[in-house]
Amino acid sequence: SDETESKRDIMQKKTMEHPCYNCGAHKYARIHLPVAPACNVQCNYCVRKFDCQNESRPGVTSKILTPMEALERYRLVKEKMPNLTVAGIAGPGDALANWEEVSETFRLIRKYDPEVTFCLSTNGLMLPMHAKEIAELGISHVTVTLNAVDPHISGQIYKYIRFMGQSYEEDAAGAIMVSNQLAGIRMLVESHIIVKINIVTIRGINEMHIPEIVRTVKDLGCYITNIMQLIPVEGSTFERLEPIPLKRIQEIRKECETIMPQMYHCQHCRADAVGTLDKDQSIDLGGAVNPVKE
Ligand code: SF4
Ligand code: SF4
Repeated sequence: SDETESKRDIMQKKTMEHPCYNCGAHKYARIHLPVAPACNVQCNYCVRKFDCQNESRPGVTSKILTPMEALERYRLVKEKMPNLTVAGIAGPGDALANWEEVSETFRLIRKYDPEVTFCLSTNGLMLPMHAKEIAELGISHVTVTLNAVDPHISGQIYKYIRFMGQSYEEDAAGAIMVSNQLAGIRMLVESHIIVKINIVTIRGINEMHIPEIVRTVKDLGCYITNIMQLIPVEGSTFERLEPIPLKRIQEIRKECETIMPQMYHCQHCRADAVGTLDKDQSIDLGGAVNPVKE
């Protein structure tokens, strides 16, 4: 229909101006708003005193903002940075585990700026429950971290997950994660949302499984995959796992490029990053934390 066509055109324009989805969009800036402190899972590579390891390097935890403070930061930055095209929520925990704050933040910013592109990143556990609202809020780009499509492999990546008031571990955790992630991704694609998949490559666990993940998400209609290196964090279950060399990561990406487009320029930005991807900018936010990447 015409409506679907024009929706697709808008999505395409937004994607062209999104620095994370288009290498040629480096002149555009994005802001991450740290309004999501809680997480509903415990990844074995994560230490919760840092930002979500799905998107961010181990560093300092972002200072949490309320939705009103996030709007204030957005306005300040937008005034100084007219090339700001994207507002995203990437933690420091999981966006969907803090849905009230996250949806309120997007509503407030949309009222102020009808043009801005919205994105969020999530571990995918709660996607089926929120996919409809994500579409209704006009969030056009979603990143899901999907480290396995096999429940047994997935179960080795989480120490536990918390779902509907219960904790699950091992294969049970993996089964819930994988089915919710895949069902949620399918719902997003049906709503014409552009989906990027982050995959953390973990030695001895999912290293050989990556092409299968990529084939699965290609079939689901995802836009790009971002195959990342695991950077072991002290204090995490996987702290002693040796990272897979970048050379090998590049080989895996090359192999997967025959299946679907690969992302090569993700900076693993902090949950409070501001600016273009080339250069995170330090802006005086009047007493707010300095949103500079370490
Ligand atoms: Fe950490 Fe992110 Fe995993 Fe939550 S989803 S445990 S914040 S890496
Ligand atoms: Fe873009 Fe990657 Fe930074 Fe997210 S973490 S804003 S995808 S470069």
